[in-house]
Amino acid sequence: MRKLFTAQIAANSGLTGLLLLLLLSVGLVRADDREYPSDLPLADQLVAQARAMESDDINKAILMLKNREKEVKKVASSGELARFYNKLSELNSTLGHLAEQREYATKGLALIGDETVPIGADLNYNLGIVYEMNADFESALKYYRKGLEIAQLTNHLLYQGRGKLFISLVYTFDGDYERALEIMTESYVIAQQVNDDDLTWEVLNGLHILYGNLNDDEKALEVGLQALETSRRLGIKALRIVDLHNIGLTQLNLKQYEQANQTFEEMRLESETSTELSDMYNAYKGFAVVAFEMDQGDRALDYLTKAEEYLPHVQEVMVQIDFYLIKARVLSKEDQPSLALEVLSIAEQKMPLKYHKNDNRLGLAVLRSKSRFHAELNNYKNAYELLKSHSDGLRIFRREKTQTAIRKLRVSFDVERNESRNNMLAKDNEIKALQLKQATSEQQIQIFFLVVLGMLSVGLIFVMYRQLHSRRQLKTIAETDSLTELFNRRYAFASGEQMVKEGNEGDSPLSVIMFDLDHFKTINDTYGHPAGDLVLKTIGEISKGCLRGSDVLARIGGEEFIAILPGVKLEMAEFIAGRLKDKLETFQQQHEQNKFFVTASFGVAQNKDKDDFEHLIHRADKALYQAKDNGRNCVALAG
Ligand code: GH3
Ligand code: MG
Ligand code: MG
Repeated sequence: MRKLFTAQIAANSGLTGLLLLLLLSVGLVRADDREYPSDLPLADQLVAQARAMESDDINKAILMLKNREKEVKKVASSGELARFYNKLSELNSTLGHLAEQREYATKGLALIGDETVPIGADLNYNLGIVYEMNADFESALKYYRKGLEIAQLTNHLLYQGRGKLFISLVYTFDGDYERALEIMTESYVIAQQVNDDDLTWEVLNGLHILYGNLNDDEKALEVGLQALETSRRLGIKALRIVDLHNIGLTQLNLKQYEQANQTFEEMRLESETSTELSDMYNAYKGFAVVAFEMDQGDRALDYLTKAEEYLPHVQEVMVQIDFYLIKARVLSKEDQPSLALEVLSIAEQKMPLKYHKNDNRLGLAVLRSKSRFHAELNNYKNAYELLKSHSDGLRIFRREKTQTAIRKLRVSFDVERNESRNNMLAKDNEIKALQLKQATSEQQIQIFFLVVLGMLSVGLIFVMYRQLHSRRQLKTIAETDSLTELFNRRYAFASGEQMVKEGNEGDSPLSVIMFDLDHFKTINDTYGHPAGDLVLKTIGEISKGCLRGSDVLARIGGEEFIAILPGVKLEMAEFIAGRLKDKLETFQQQHEQNKFFVTASFGVAQNKDKDDFEHLIHRADKALYQAKDNGRNCVALAG
């Protein structure tokens, strides 16, 4: 999210002339380390340079700034240095590196002290975000308010808009929608005034979620479509996918099933070329829910099967639970209540321990579903007990709603909460009536279940997901490969270039090991793709165990890896590669009932003649081909 705000320095200076100058220069700067001609102070030049690099590679931008820090410190005024640190804080924020984000924001704030300058606003926001991400909303609000105050004192409109956005997001997550809406609207007006697409998108996206939570789906759809227009203009695919997802969900709530289907299809097409496979999950889950709502249970189950294939790529455990809750609902409607109960128990197992009781939303949702399924199985006594427990829990839950952990959840389920609030009395009366009759009339109980439990619609889960998805924007651009959790290609190349440069400057050795699994296609063909995926994961873990913490290990292709070893000479690298080769060939992989072995071929090269990273890996790659030629499962050295 933070990376979206681009008019950073320009905003800091508050000078329109400088703004123009910067915008012009940004267009001229290529995404490399070259400096461009400018009369700007060094710190601001580097910040502009980082901005030009970040859309391409955030890590590279961070490394570049960190590399120049010493130099900047010598020549920069405290204000310039504060802007420099603010950029570092912001870049780390986008990557979700909270510790660094806090460190640089704190450094920047220390530099400006009591001075009232625009950059103080942004530094406070950066610090606030750290607290918000740690669910310390109170501290977050404190910093956001302080930042907003500075933005107002310095008449800085863009920062005012952002401060209001941040504050209203906290209110949103705190469930105070009316207040959130008021402030978010002010932020929207400012975004229009300063004509900033990034801020506009953020606000529209926030409004979409807000209106959804306020049950005003028409309005939600309207701003959702506007958000989509903006993200198209910005040309950022990840944002388009978020918009399409939210629009699809809103159309579902509006029972516009045909449109929802189209939206999810559009989302699926966009996701196919995205590296974030969890987006594919969302698209198929979307199709499934549409089918379910249209009473096409078979189709819903088919789509759920498809969605489940991508479920391993979903990191948020709440979203995983959401999947099983939906699947259970569909199964139950397909007259398979016992299967539904089974699936529900998976959801229960996935649930973090602290949610296992009936004092929170998630636990309550499960209880209620369970109760319903037992009723469908004619286990009315069980159903009744569960419902009773659900009802008691709801009461406890509401009493303890200030607890932070629950606070986060509460908002998610707010639509349900509002419904529950209205239905609470009715439900209590029903239960009392039932107790009086001692639950003798089964038919009556059945009707009771239909009425009371009917409230549990898949719809309430959407609201939760909407929240999570929007939060995810804070850490969109990752440096890791989602399957193996190793570094990805992008990171390997950025840090590799940097490490080789440092090695060459310091005249210290550096080696790389490139390795590629042997006949991996056959593994996939014989044991299936999931088995292949498992192999990749295990290989990642084994390899990590053979390396030091300072080495960089990355998956740079389908079944191709690289290890970058600073301070290591060729002979040592050969030894390490050999050890890794031995470890791999003796490890027996087990997938389902199959057991098998996997080997890899290795190419090793050391830096020489001040060659850059590209040359180095080219030589390692050639050695790797040599190893394949030599019969595989062996190590070859670059000449
Ligand atoms: P060689 O020994 O020459 O390297 O043979 P190979 O079969 O390993 O090489 P080839 O390049 O022909 O095939 C690589 C295979 O890796 C094909 C592709 O399906 C598979 N693959 C790539 N990425 C993934 C992945 O993420 N998961 C799984 N399961 N397979 C993958
Ligand atoms: Mg291979
Ligand atoms: Mg290969």
